[in-house]
Amino acid sequence: MTPREHDLLVIGSGPGGYVAAIRAAQLGLNTACVESEPALGGTCLRVGCIPSKAMLESSERFHEAAHAMAPHGVQVGSVSLDLPTMLKRKDEIVRGLTGGVDLLFKKNKVTRYAGRGRIVGPGRVVVESAEGAGGAPAAEIAAKHILIATGSRSADLPGVKPDGDRIGTSTEALAYAEVPKHLVVIGAGYIGLEMGSVWLRLGAKVTVLEYLDRILPGMDAEIAGEALRLLKRQGMEFRLGAKVTGAKTAKGRVVVSCEGQDPIEADRVLLAVGRVPNTEGLGLASVGIEPDARGRIPVDDRFQTSAPGIYAIGDVIGGAMLAHKASEEGVACVERIVTGYGHVNYDAIPGVVYTQPEIASVGRTEEELTTAGVAHRKGVFFFRGIGRSRALGQIDGRVKILADASTDRILGVHIIGARAGDLIAEAVAAIEFGASAEDIARISHAHPTLAEAVKEAALAVDGRPIHA
Ligand SMILES: Cc1cc2nc3c(=O)[nH]c(=O)nc-3n(C[C@H](O)[C@H](O)[C@H](O)COP(=O)(O)OP(=O)(O)OC[C@H]3O[C@@H](n4cnc5c(N)ncnc54)[C@H](O)[C@@H]3O)c2cc1C
Repeated sequence: MTPREHDLLVIGSGPGGYVAAIRAAQLGLNTACVESEPALGGTCLRVGCIPSKAMLESSERFHEAAHAMAPHGVQVGSVSLDLPTMLKRKDEIVRGLTGGVDLLFKKNKVTRYAGRGRIVGPGRVVVESAEGAGGAPAAEIAAKHILIATGSRSADLPGVKPDGDRIGTSTEALAYAEVPKHLVVIGAGYIGLEMGSVWLRLGAKVTVLEYLDRILPGMDAEIAGEALRLLKRQGMEFRLGAKVTGAKTAKGRVVVSCEGQDPIEADRVLLAVGRVPNTEGLGLASVGIEPDARGRIPVDDRFQTSAPGIYAIGDVIGGAMLAHKASEEGVACVERIVTGYGHVNYDAIPGVVYTQPEIASVGRTEEELTTAGVAHRKGVFFFRGIGRSRALGQIDGRVKILADASTDRILGVHIIGARAGDLIAEAVAAIEFGASAEDIARISHAHPTLAEAVKEAALAVDGRPIHA
């Protein structure tokens, strides 16, 4: 078979891969992308960010209609759940967006190959049928540059084997055909808390088991502590410091065992203990690439692997496993290949947890600054002091700004509260442009908006909030 030739072949069409492919095509590279799933868009569009947010939105509407309308003077009759319609809406959103990536590929003349990509030597990739190796390759490709963007999959936990039914990952939890009576979530990271929130709002009892003595590891501890309090108030149950040792299914029930604690029985278990990079069957050994101890592909600041001309971005390399981080890396990588310039500012990558209320952060946490011995000042403002929060009826939460003690430069912003995921954009811009807390304090913020809490927190860094 004569190899087809491209300037760039991207392996994987998630938010890292498809965005990189489109940017490369814009820059004039003859670009192709190989994807093993029938739909483009990766974890994010198919079984991650988008379907989870669709379910969070729908479940929030259900919960609001049932519980939050009366104080507004809105009387709602009996509220009932139509789960098949809710799931169908989510599937349609996914179909629309993954089909949209297909259209963008066509518009930008990115060639799509269907199947699994396997590197067979420098600049050479074979595409095999998605079912796996063995059969004749569907295509052989010669590419000047290869970009690995194969993403990640749910991590395993010894003794807890997903069976695609009673014990599953977030993929199954996005599509339960009925509301579980009791859902046990293993892992209190953002995926566990988001999916737990969906089913809690729809009527499940939800118990979260977490190995650590806190939730949301890696996030600012003060904010995570408040999140724990608010989630408990909603009825989510937590067992912290719980080491899960196994899960066994019998007669449609699952018994989850924890070291030194009573076993816990559920009808569904969601395993959400993190994600691991996808490198199996990629042919890395054929070009001498060795994943690190955590299975990630090591890269330099140009995203180049140890093999010349082979690059990697997104969940398959180190750093936060986030869609927008993968996209930024994809763009920076191909811009660097074509123009010689391209950069990602990792201090300005936000992270959002779409619970109710939302939690969002950018930059360094208070613990990180303290551990690193960075002298800093802290400004905190509570949403209950903001008129718009009162009007919304969502007064929980706070904005916390951490600024360098001598220069006042903003080093970290952490928000828990209504629409925190939107409010964090101002903080990201501030960090990106090297703003001081005083800069934010002096910017006019529309009244009445939730963003006024960001201004007040900036004023609080200097001890002069107006409404506290
Ligand atoms: C439930 C859930 C919710 C999430 N919510 C958010 C969120 O709200 N915000 C956020 O930023 N992030 C979220 N994430 C994380 C986000 O989905 C990932 O960080 C992001 O998708 C990573 O992008 P990527 O391009 O590196 O990889 P992926 O999106 O994983 O895409 C990799 C693609 O490569 C394909 N592939 C793998 N191997 C091969 C091969 N050999 N040949 C061909 N194709 C291959 C895979 O099929 C996949 O389509 C969520 C994840 C989950 C699971």
